[in-house]
Amino acid sequence: MRPLAWADVDAKVTRRPIIGAPPRAGQPFFMADRYRDLNSYLRERFGCRVQKITLDAGLTCPNRDGAKGTGGCIYCNARGSGTGAHGRGLSIREQLEAGKAAVARRYGAGRFIAYFQSFSNTYAPPARLRALYEEAASVPGVAALFIGTRPDCVSEEVLDLLAEFSRRLLVWVEYGLQTANEKTLAAIGRGHGLKEFLAATAATRARGIPVCAHIILGLPGETREDARRTARILAQAGVEGVKIHSLYIVRGTAMEELYRRGGYRPLSREEYVSWAADVIERLPPEVVIQRLTGDPHPAELVAPAWCRDKAAVLAAIRGELARRESRQGTFAHAEAD
Ligand code: SF4
Repeated sequence: MRPLAWADVDAKVTRRPIIGAPPRAGQPFFMADRYRDLNSYLRERFGCRVQKITLDAGLTCPNRDGAKGTGGCIYCNARGSGTGAHGRGLSIREQLEAGKAAVARRYGAGRFIAYFQSFSNTYAPPARLRALYEEAASVPGVAALFIGTRPDCVSEEVLDLLAEFSRRLLVWVEYGLQTANEKTLAAIGRGHGLKEFLAATAATRARGIPVCAHIILGLPGETREDARRTARILAQAGVEGVKIHSLYIVRGTAMEELYRRGGYRPLSREEYVSWAADVIERLPPEVVIQRLTGDPHPAELVAPAWCRDKAAVLAAIRGELARRESRQGTFAHAEAD
């Protein structure tokens, strides 16, 4: 596979809007909240509720298969943040059909996002990826492919393949960055740096494919200023979406050992709410905030207990922005990095 040209980052940055700004007041889907959330964006785009179905394609990642490491990032367990559905023998089509039945019952949704979540979903030969994406795209009702991966796991061929699919349906690529602090990236064992993220983001956006960055607040040694700086760098990189959650500790990870030895204190809910509000204020208003809470498996969560109550966390973040009389974008152009 042709690797991305890391040296060519600046030349590839595109300022061309890919998803467009949220509608203004008076239009049908005004960003009524203090930030632009995913459901609002999907309603703007499709005019109806669109529900995400999480998929496990049975892939791996270079931090697990030995290419870069075998132990994974220090907070990741052996499921690779996934559902484990592939291990139970379910094909992509079967996972989607089961998910469609469940979300249609619960939400009445008729259109769906096929979300390739577990491990790194561009980390396979292009022919295998084509077959996986095609299997998902051909299921009736699937309106979008969201592809979660690492920024060091994309090549020119894979991005060209995704661009091909993006002519048929909505395609987003989600890159795990976690933080823009290089020292933290090394300490948590990510196996890539900020440079790879910027190159992958630029090369993806240059093909007209929107990018969502995943970040974690409260990584070991990180400060509130690290969170703010990461937000500023994401804004400069031009990402279309961001997913944010606090670092939570799950069983069977190196983070669990560190926590049990007393070497790490998770953020309190109040700290997380304050840091998350800082990040939101520094992201431009057009960025889609796809997630503001983590989703730990209840049986695997070690700490902090507060992250189980997602509704309370979301309400607290909205409350904090209201208390500050601010919203997404308030400081988007106010600070230099
Ligand atoms: S890159 Fe993702 S799947 Fe791989 S070890 Fe890190 S968190 Fe887990």
